[in-house]
Amino acid sequence: MLKIGVLALQGDFEAHARALARAGADPVMVRAGKNLDGLDALVLPGGESTTIAKGMERLGLFEAVRTFAEAGHPILGTCAGAILLARRVENHPVSSLGLLDMTAVRNAYGTQVDSFVAPADPGAKAGLEGLPCVFIRAPRLRDLGREVDVLVRVGGEPVLVRRGERFAATFHPELGEDPRVLRLWIETVRRSASAARSRERANPLSEPA
Ligand code: GLN
Repeated sequence: MLKIGVLALQGDFEAHARALARAGADPVMVRAGKNLDGLDALVLPGGESTTIAKGMERLGLFEAVRTFAEAGHPILGTCAGAILLARRVENHPVSSLGLLDMTAVRNAYGTQVDSFVAPADPGAKAGLEGLPCVFIRAPRLRDLGREVDVLVRVGGEPVLVRRGERFAATFHPELGEDPRVLRLWIETVRRSASAARSRERANPLSEPA
């Protein structure tokens, strides 16, 4: 079974762990760099990015998570997690990992409409047509790098993007009934883990990629 870490410092990590277990993975709570050992992938959940970033700084997790992602492990950031993945953060900036070339503008939908559910615009990729998206004080993503692919838009805004194994959602795929986003990402994790295992078999003395 795939072992998928969930950063468990603050926010809705328990909902993520439940959704990953429902989708057939083995969720592991991550509260220290050493918890990343042996994991196939990592989820950065929603919550309050200021609080999560402070915790990560205190625990040396910026360095550890960057090293984990740069070794080729898939990473999914949702809402606050998407902010933490961004290279640039606006509107009360927080320290971020800089793993996706984009700007995250925090709380960009304003306080009047800070939580809502909306369907994906027509033209969503990867079998995600009609996806219902749950937004909670969501950021907007801007200035996407050319290699960042937009899978889903809502109201014309990019809300699910990916570059290779790195995915960011400004909504909450772990909430609600639609498992498609987590299934798609877990499929990516499965492919990446089996590629890593066959590299190890081909060259058992090499460092893990
Ligand atoms: N508004 C939060 C932030 O900026 C994110 C909200 C969420 O994760 N649901 O950190």
